[in-house]
Amino acid sequence: MHAEALMTTIPAPFQPTPRLLLGPGPSDAHPAVLRAMATPLLGHLDPQFLRVLDEVQAMLRAAFRTGNALTLPISATGMAGMETCLVNLLEPGDRAVVCAAGFFGQRLAEVAGRAGAQVTVLERPWGEVFDPGQVREALQKVRPRVLGIVQAETSTGAWRPLEGLGALCREHEALLVVDAVTALGSVPLPVDEWGIDAVYSCSQKGLGCPPGLAPVSLGARAVEAVERRKARVQSWYLDVTLLRRYFGQERAYHHTAPISMNYALREALALVVEEGLETRFERHALNGRALHAGLSAMGLTLLTDPKHRLPQLTCVKIPDGVDDLVVRRRLLRDWGIEVGGGLGPHKGQAWRIGLMGHGSRQSSVTLLLAALETCLRDLGVSLPAGEATRAAAAVYAEAAK
Ligand code: PLP
Repeated sequence: MHAEALMTTIPAPFQPTPRLLLGPGPSDAHPAVLRAMATPLLGHLDPQFLRVLDEVQAMLRAAFRTGNALTLPISATGMAGMETCLVNLLEPGDRAVVCAAGFFGQRLAEVAGRAGAQVTVLERPWGEVFDPGQVREALQKVRPRVLGIVQAETSTGAWRPLEGLGALCREHEALLVVDAVTALGSVPLPVDEWGIDAVYSCSQKGLGCPPGLAPVSLGARAVEAVERRKARVQSWYLDVTLLRRYFGQERAYHHTAPISMNYALREALALVVEEGLETRFERHALNGRALHAGLSAMGLTLLTDPKHRLPQLTCVKIPDGVDDLVVRRRLLRDWGIEVGGGLGPHKGQAWRIGLMGHGSRQSSVTLLLAALETCLRDLGVSLPAGEATRAAAAVYAEAAK
């Protein structure tokens, strides 16, 4: 049958109802980033496009605070960043230690295992962080090639301290691999200062860009490890020794780079550089504080200890007797707000609220608090009226002094 015969109607132009994306990602892209995507296409080897790639790579180095030459946007989402680091650094039979305590830590362990490694998973209850003593003990015992850890665990809102891990890894001849998918652009990540050997992220969260690219950076020790490999990297597409021939001086064809996504990332990174990293981190910290104050004033319980609570991703317990989906559907239908549901043991038990990149602003916090309060009161939850937005406003007022 002809394709035409299968199509009964031609879809109308797609014009979705606008949303405020306050879930775990994607977050809202800055309007200038969306405009950049409409720039006319160039070929992936056109000198003008190669200049775009150079600029993207230079600004990624600034965002990661690294001098790593091998810093590039992998043409896929954050998971491809994870795979790139692990398939290049691990050979079949290597040992890896992964700090879990959340959904994405478990993913890291799963992907390391698929790369052929024997994986030792360090467990903690979900939402907790790892103490350096536990990591040191594992490194001493296992002597792994790779230690993997998620800086900002999106499933729990836990902010893992990374200082000291680079030195610990050097002491034990291991490579430190960091998942910064929810971290980059929202919280400090000085890759060189902290001795991180390989790091990956995404475009759609703290950088305020649509999903589609995975910034990755490999330091000298990681590159050396790749060059000393005995086994070929199992993935052709993600083999950094092939990728660097396109992203480096040689400019040899590797794959057709997603042109419009690189325009978008270039604009998003230019906005990051223009704002300044410190100012950006302070903005995220302030909006996070205001949200936490508002949720607490509503009487809700935040699931992560305040000592290691992320500002850009908050995990809040759903009040007893309240149906997760009823609230999320209502937020979406009546206010156009998207928040995330819980993962793993938090499914149906918690909401995940993201304030990332362009979405991290006072208006997002205030609207979300007002909407959530209305929704919960309508469902019969007894809440002090107006306390949440008042508590958030007090945080902003204090910061403005
Ligand atoms: N790692 C973390 C910590 C994440 O939060 C995510 C996605 O939310 C990923 C990895 C996977 O990234 P992506 O969904 O862009 O492939």
